[in-house]
Amino acid sequence: MSEKYLEIRNITKVFQTPEGGEVRALDDVTLDIASGEFFILLGPSGCGKTTLLRSIAGLEYPDSGEIILQGERIDDKPPYDRPVNTVFQSYALFPHMTVGENIAFGLEMENVEKDEVTKRVNEALEQVQLAGYDKRMPSQLSGGQQQRVALARALAKKPKVLLLDEPLSALDLKLRRGMQVELKRLQRETGITFVFVTHDQEEAMSMGDRIAVFSQGKIVQLDTPVEVYRRPVNAYVADFIGETNLIKGTVVAGGISLPGGHVLPTDQLAADSVIPASGEVTVAIRPEDLVLATNGVIGGTVSEVIFTGDSVRVHVRVGDVEVIAALASYGTEIPAQGSSVTLNPEHRAARTVAS
Ligand code: ATP
Repeated sequence: MSEKYLEIRNITKVFQTPEGGEVRALDDVTLDIASGEFFILLGPSGCGKTTLLRSIAGLEYPDSGEIILQGERIDDKPPYDRPVNTVFQSYALFPHMTVGENIAFGLEMENVEKDEVTKRVNEALEQVQLAGYDKRMPSQLSGGQQQRVALARALAKKPKVLLLDEPLSALDLKLRRGMQVELKRLQRETGITFVFVTHDQEEAMSMGDRIAVFSQGKIVQLDTPVEVYRRPVNAYVADFIGETNLIKGTVVAGGISLPGGHVLPTDQLAADSVIPASGEVTVAIRPEDLVLATNGVIGGTVSEVIFTGDSVRVHVRVGDVEVIAALASYGTEIPAQGSSVTLNPEHRAARTVAS
């Protein structure tokens, strides 16, 4: 992978709202995307990820900053002059054209030779596993199949970057999971750089080579899924990616005093945890990293026990916070509601996080 294939340099975009206010949708965003990378823009609704994707596509023009593809500035070009293609959540297929015509349309507009158009249409349909569907009308396809056609149409143009704006969000969960695996395969096979927008952290984790986590127009963390999950830079990321118990404690000699009065020893925290000399700190612990212990550091009363199949989620009231432990559903003695228990974090997976 060569670095700096697609460069986003200091992009800022401010929208004027009809109410007379301003929204800083993108606030000085800088990032590099490598060639052949599956890159995810992740964040809650309104954080600016779609505005960034639309800026790369040319559907939005930033107020300042530069977008550079293979060393060439593209941010001042109209959308049709940029070697990128977008797949939208709404599919946006032409309803009066067959599947084949839908895919061919963009190629014909570019005056691609007829034989080459046919070849590319068939190749794209094969890539999305819809070979032989070229005569169908979009209305004769399921939602998932229509999404594949939208994908085939974008791939047929052989873009340098494929932009995907929540393309799977209209599909039901099972179909969506299947399409995630397929998109990953397609990206690998075609070697095309994918920039994928989602607000679904699980989707981001399962597909991305790297994830940029956004909050209020800024990138909060940019890392591989494993790093973002294991080493969230702050409480926002820890809470947004996966599930995390955020427990406020006080720094004392040798560790952190937690609600309930027990001390979490420093040597049980992740080695790179930053511990201030004194004062309050937030400790982040994933539910799956907590186990029942006889003399654990988190003690409280079981308020809820929920069996989910792959785990047993035990809610423990500790002072005025609720801590959740996801215990293995086999081989664990399940505590009764109302009983007193203590928990310990395992594998030094607990860490302090900036709030
Ligand atoms: P979602 O997942 O809901 O699409 P997002 O993270 O993609 O959210 P954006 O669509 O990029 O967010 O919007 C970022 C902010 O800019 C939001 O507060 C939104 O209301 C605002 N915004 C976007 N487009 C416009 C516009 N044309 N005029 C005014 N404000 C806008």
